Amino acid sequence: MTRKPVTKRLAAALDRDDQREENGMHPDDRATCHTHQSWAEDCADRHMPLTAGSLLAQARELDRVRYQAAQDHEDPSRSPHGTTTPLEG
Ligand SMILES: [Zn+2]
Repeated sequence: MTRKPVTKRLAAALDRDDQREENGMHPDDRATCHTHQSWAEDCADRHMPLTAGSLLAQARELDRVRYQAAQDHEDPSRSPHGTTTPLEG
């Protein structure tokens, strides 16, 4: 469990990058990551899935929810309350 603490040097770099970005610097040119409060190189791989992967997952989840909602409305006879089981014996 050795999570890097935010050192004074990192804190200063974060402040500097924040100010530079406010002044028009491109976010890709940051040496630090505002989201993770760490050096950009330390969390670069954490950002990759966020852009393409999670957006796709979100879209698929929406599709799934919509599909299930449509199924529920189209087929009310599948409700367990509508079934009758004849007694035999
Ligand atoms: Zn990050």
